[in-house]
Amino acid sequence: MSHIAANLIQIRDRIAEACHQAGRDPAAVQLVAVSKFHPAESVAQALAAGQLVFGENRVQEAAQKFPALREATPALRLHVIGALQTNKARDAVRIADVIESLDRPKLAASLAEAMAREGRRPGLLVQVNIGREPQKAGIDPEALDDFIAECRETHGLPVEGLMCIPPAEEDPSPHFVAMQEAAARLKLGVLSMGMSGDFEQAIRHGATHVRIGTAIFGHRATP
Ligand SMILES: *Cc1c(COP(=O)(O)O)cnc(C)c1O
Repeated sequence: MSHIAANLIQIRDRIAEACHQAGRDPAAVQLVAVSKFHPAESVAQALAAGQLVFGENRVQEAAQKFPALREATPALRLHVIGALQTNKARDAVRIADVIESLDRPKLAASLAEAMAREGRRPGLLVQVNIGREPQKAGIDPEALDDFIAECRETHGLPVEGLMCIPPAEEDPSPHFVAMQEAAARLKLGVLSMGMSGDFEQAIRHGATHVRIGTAIFGHRATP
């Protein structure tokens, strides 16, 4: 068995255990395997181990890696999880099944235009800057309700949920709680939060998608 296959078994066990502890159905939590900076061969090993949902943070890298893999495994699903420039909106709409990083009005407009042109409508999650960090992408929590209304009413976008990356040096739990409250208030069913170091806490607070890279694929070469 490959290391990746063994890691996937472990992660799935930990997800199931976290769901059990939280009284949640494990089927309600999707594992997004974050394969950024890892080669197509690593993705192929994860596919062979039954993993079908992947996350990439750069559209260009994903566009090189995924078309051949998807041809071989049509059930493969790709989430774009990283900062998206407006001039990459069309490429993202072409290859993604879900875009998790909708984080500003200009991008909402570009995605709406790209979807109209491509005739393809990936699901969208709004990234929330839940820790209000100046250097981090995402909509400020105070501006979230208005932004979602703008996405839906002005642009007709299929907003399905929320995504966040909490501050690295803090206990993420209060941030996960705030995200859970926001999703409930906005009646959004999808909540993408939790990474290799904190996914069990995220599951405790209602995550429906956990994005896990290092614990599956190992350490990444820094770009
Ligand atoms: C890289 C990345 C992850 C995965 O992080 P790990 O700590 O390696 O599990 C999750 N979400 C986003 C947005 C990322 O860029």
